[in-house]
Amino acid sequence: MPIPRLVDLSLVPNPKVQPGGERAAQGRLLAFLRGPGPRYAKQRDRLDLAGTSRLSADLKFGTLSIRQVFSAIRKALGGTESGRAFENELLWREFAHSILWDRPDVLHQPFRAEFADFPWRTDEAGWQAWVEGATGYPVVDAAARQLLAEGFVHNRARMISASFLAKHLMIDYKRGEVHYLEWLTDGDWAQNNMGWQWCAGCGCDAQPYFRVMNPVAQGRCFDPEGSYVRQYPPKLARLPARFIHSPWEAPEDVLQRAGVRLGRDCPRPIVEHSEARRRYLATARAHLAKRRRR
Ligand SMILES: Cc1cc2nc3c(=O)[nH]c(=O)nc-3n(C[C@H](O)[C@H](O)[C@H](O)COP(=O)(O)OP(=O)(O)OC[C@H]3O[C@@H](n4cnc5c(N)ncnc54)[C@H](O)[C@@H]3O)c2cc1C
Repeated sequence: MPIPRLVDLSLVPNPKVQPGGERAAQGRLLAFLRGPGPRYAKQRDRLDLAGTSRLSADLKFGTLSIRQVFSAIRKALGGTESGRAFENELLWREFAHSILWDRPDVLHQPFRAEFADFPWRTDEAGWQAWVEGATGYPVVDAAARQLLAEGFVHNRARMISASFLAKHLMIDYKRGEVHYLEWLTDGDWAQNNMGWQWCAGCGCDAQPYFRVMNPVAQGRCFDPEGSYVRQYPPKLARLPARFIHSPWEAPEDVLQRAGVRLGRDCPRPIVEHSEARRRYLATARAHLAKRRRR
C-alpha cells in the first residue's frame, strides 16, 4: 500500500521544510549559538523545545563543514557543559562515518553477528500503522507524522519511534531505516544506519537489546505538557496533559470534553506495552541463546 503523502516534499517551497543553501546554514548556526546553544546540554532531549541546532541537513549536504561547526562551537561554548555535549554529538556523527568506512556490510546486516537471522515478524498492518502514525501511542505517531510532513524528526522521537518498530512490533529495523532514508532531509547512510542499529540493539556500542523504551514514559518525560504531540495527531490537541501520552486512560467525560472518540479520532494502541515488551524479550533471549549454542 503506498505511503500517504501528508505534505508532498517535492512541492517547492514546503514551508515546513527548512531552507537549504549556505546562507541559511550560516544563519542557523548563528541562531543556535545565540539562542538555545548555551542550554543545549539540558534541553537537547526535550521534544517540546527548539533546543537543538537543526544543522544535520547542512552537515549532510556540506553547506556547513564539520570543521566550521566544531570551531564555532569551541569558540562560543568551549569548556561549558553544553559545548561538551554538542561536541559529543558531532563525535557520534564521525563515529557513524568511521563505522561505515570500516564495515560497509552494516548497510546489509547487523554490526553484531549474533543478531543476524533475527526472527522479525511479518506484520503489514503494524508496519502501515507505524508509517502513517496510527499506532495509538501519541509520541510514536507524532514522530511518524513529523517525518512525512517536515522531512525531519527530533532525535529523541527517532529513538522512541525506531525502538517501537524494532522491539514492540518486532518488524525488521531495516524497513524503518529505508523509510527514514527516503523521507529525512538529513537522511544519511552512515548516521541513519547507526541510529537504527543503536535502537534495535544490534549496532556498535548500541543500546542493550533488553532495554525497551516505554513510549508513554518517554513521552511524559521529554514532552511533559504534550506540546510536541499536540502538533501532529491534531485530534488530541485538547486532551489534558495528564492523558496526552495515554489517551486510553482518560475517563469518558474527559475524552468527550476534548472531542476525542477512541478508536475513531485516535486509534487504540495496536499493541499493549508490557505484552509487547515480554514478547520481544522472550524472542530475543531465545534467539541469542540459540546463536551461542552454534
Ligand atoms: C533512528 C535514527 C536515525 C537517524 N538518522 C539520521 C540521519 O539520517 N542523518 C543524521 O544526520 N542524523 C540521524 N540521526 C541522528 C540524529 O537524530 C540527528 O542527527 C539529529 O536529530 C539532527 O538534529 P539536529 O541537527 O538538531 O541535532 P543536534 O542535537 O543539534 O546535533 C548536532 C549535530 O550532531 C550530529 N548528531 C546529533 N545526534 C546524533 C546521533 N545520535 N548520531 C549521529 N550524529 C548525531 C548531527 O550531525 C547533528 O546535526 C538518527 C538517529 C536515530 C535514532
